[in-house]
Amino acid sequence: MKIALTVGHSLLKNGCYTSADGKTYGGCNEYKWCKAFSKQLASALKKNGHKVKRIVCPEKKFTCSTQEKNYKLNLINRSNYNLVIELHLNAASPSGRGTEVLYKSPAGKRFAEKVQKQLSSVFQDRGTKERTDLYILNGSKPPAILIETFFCTNKNDYAKAKGKANRKKLAKLIADGI
Ligand SMILES: [Zn+2]
Repeated sequence: MKIALTVGHSLLKNGCYTSADGKTYGGCNEYKWCKAFSKQLASALKKNGHKVKRIVCPEKKFTCSTQEKNYKLNLINRSNYNLVIELHLNAASPSGRGTEVLYKSPAGKRFAEKVQKQLSSVFQDRGTKERTDLYILNGSKPPAILIETFFCTNKNDYAKAKGKANRKKLAKLIADGI
């Protein structure tokens, strides 16, 4: 398949991240983790025979998070991808934990279920969820899934995702699910 792999959020011109930051709870910055992880996931998907385009918003260029939408959807919809994967992390109070994959279309649901099953071997299974309010799911022409790999605000979740070796392991799980 030809896959667009997009990293949620961005780093704005003013130096602020548009993502959640769980560092004060012993977790991590959502955008930074997802950006690092996208490299391992792209490699794992390529290893499994897919063509992958990583899409990361330009850093320190945008003035607000709403600019992320057009940037990504333009790149996605001008090529003929078979699948869009967007990377995020969940955020809540420090006790919130686990993994979930979001989808909108029936085709997206099939991919979401396969990825959910794989990630649930590491994180608490929160199930797949149908969402109709997310631009990446609504605006992408190909089937799309949004992976909330774990909670960036949960110390124990982050312990299983910290560092390159853990990221590689999680990347292989997702790639094998796809
Ligand atoms: Zn997010």
